[in-house]
Amino acid sequence: MLKQVADGVLVHESEFIQSNSVVVQGRAGVLLIDPGITRDEMAELANDLRELGQPVVAGFSTHPDWDHVLWHAGFGVVPRYGTARCAASIRDVLSNADWKARVAEGLPPEYADEIPMELLGFITGLPAGAAQVPWDGPEVRIIEHQAHATGHAALLIKERGVLVAGDMLSDILMPFLDLAASNPIEDYLDALRLFEGVAEDVDVVIPGHGSVGEADQVLARIEQDRAYVQALRDGVDPDDFRVGPSAPLEWLADVHQWQLQQLAPKRANAGDERAASDER
Ligand SMILES: [Zn+2]
Repeated sequence: MLKQVADGVLVHESEFIQSNSVVVQGRAGVLLIDPGITRDEMAELANDLRELGQPVVAGFSTHPDWDHVLWHAGFGVVPRYGTARCAASIRDVLSNADWKARVAEGLPPEYADEIPMELLGFITGLPAGAAQVPWDGPEVRIIEHQAHATGHAALLIKERGVLVAGDMLSDILMPFLDLAASNPIEDYLDALRLFEGVAEDVDVVIPGHGSVGEADQVLARIEQDRAYVQALRDGVDPDDFRVGPSAPLEWLADVHQWQLQQLAPKRANAGDERAASDER
């Protein structure tokens, strides 16, 4: 079911960790951001759009994780964009002969049979540093950053007051850092700063997973994510309901512990550097 969240912007929420697909109305059809998860859901969304007389004219994936790069034949054959880094990253995945088996390992077992793999990841990379999504509709600004995943982009539709955040600024998921990056903490804090820079233009924030937030939520969610990342950086317990005893998803506490552990060597290094500079 499509729900309007701003003028010309609609959201379809999937059952799987409240994944949000975003539809932006343009002149000749819609831009579809992070298309959806299960075959049936995407088929239904394609039908709804057809009935509205709003064909999909372009797609966009906010980042190269499997749950953001799926597609359904019902959406048609149109360019599916992502940042250059996003496209390169998923191309790398698809270049392995056994990519399907590898991706399948990471799928939630309860949905695995319903997730269509055949059109996964055919992303056209935009030129590095591209400022906008090339399409016939309201300007969709690309805010590329390095938090969460390589080639991650948030999209700002300023005319409509909408920020499509990708897998950040969620009310149910705490920040998942890109632990393979060399500076995951700094990357995340930098991205939050970019969001803060556009916050005054945002009336509606749409996270990759979770509830759509109104204007009063924009800065609050930036602050909440920042506090979590700073707690990871400092090795202290975050005061964050998303990983606490009444967390909406109980497995997040384990992910949190794992992130804390993985970042321990970086905390130790940062401590050594601080000690060295104190001596100087
Ligand atoms: Zn996701």
